[in-house]
Amino acid sequence: MAHFTVIGLGRFGITASLELIHLGHTVTGVDSAEKLAEQYAEELTHTVICDATDERALKELNLTNSDAVLVAIGEDMQASLLCTLHLKNLGVQELWVKANTSAHHTILSKLGVSRIIHPEEDMGVRVAQALNYPMVNDYLSIGHGYYVVEVHIADKLSGLTLAELLGDNLRIVETLLVKREQELFTKPDEQFTLRGKDIALFCGTRAVLKSLAPRLV
Ligand code: ADP
Repeated sequence: MAHFTVIGLGRFGITASLELIHLGHTVTGVDSAEKLAEQYAEELTHTVICDATDERALKELNLTNSDAVLVAIGEDMQASLLCTLHLKNLGVQELWVKANTSAHHTILSKLGVSRIIHPEEDMGVRVAQALNYPMVNDYLSIGHGYYVVEVHIADKLSGLTLAELLGDNLRIVETLLVKREQELFTKPDEQFTLRGKDIALFCGTRAVLKSLAPRLV
């Protein structure tokens, strides 16, 4: 269990906070709006009414006790940047900040924050990917052009072995896992026979995974 502080309880901040609680962590939610702090007092571990641009007020929150601090002030770039600067000065190491514009992103990267988040764009890319490849349920970028994709195996592919499904790509796509109802088959070999409704995790470069897509529909 970890402890997180989320500054800004707008739609993004509160969604992240409630999910962290759901995952079993503790969360202090901070907002300058009294109404929001009161509204979520029951659901979050603590809520604090505080102007996050005020360094003294931030200091009182003892933020170095948090495993990470998420700044979810999106609209007011000046407030977000001032708050970020203060958190850096206070020695917060693991600092995640939501950015709204590319100027915001540029300044945040100069301030050395651990992770800059672009929720709208990230979600937009995910939705476009899902519309483009409906059988790809989810994907994860693991860097250097490699992705892990979660594929729902269509009923009409039932009975194919991994070798038959992957064809020429067999050597360059790694099949990490096949999930069949409650059962997990890790690192299945090429003779593994798929069934409809299996969920497979494949790893490979974007180009190779893309070339695989027509075989999966
Ligand atoms: P979203 O798009 O996630 O709703 P917003 O930018 O609209 O993001 O909301 C950000 C939240 O941050 C609001 O609830 C607002 O009250 C809060 N906020 C804005 N400025 C400050 C500040 N200086 N200190 C603390 N909270 C702030």
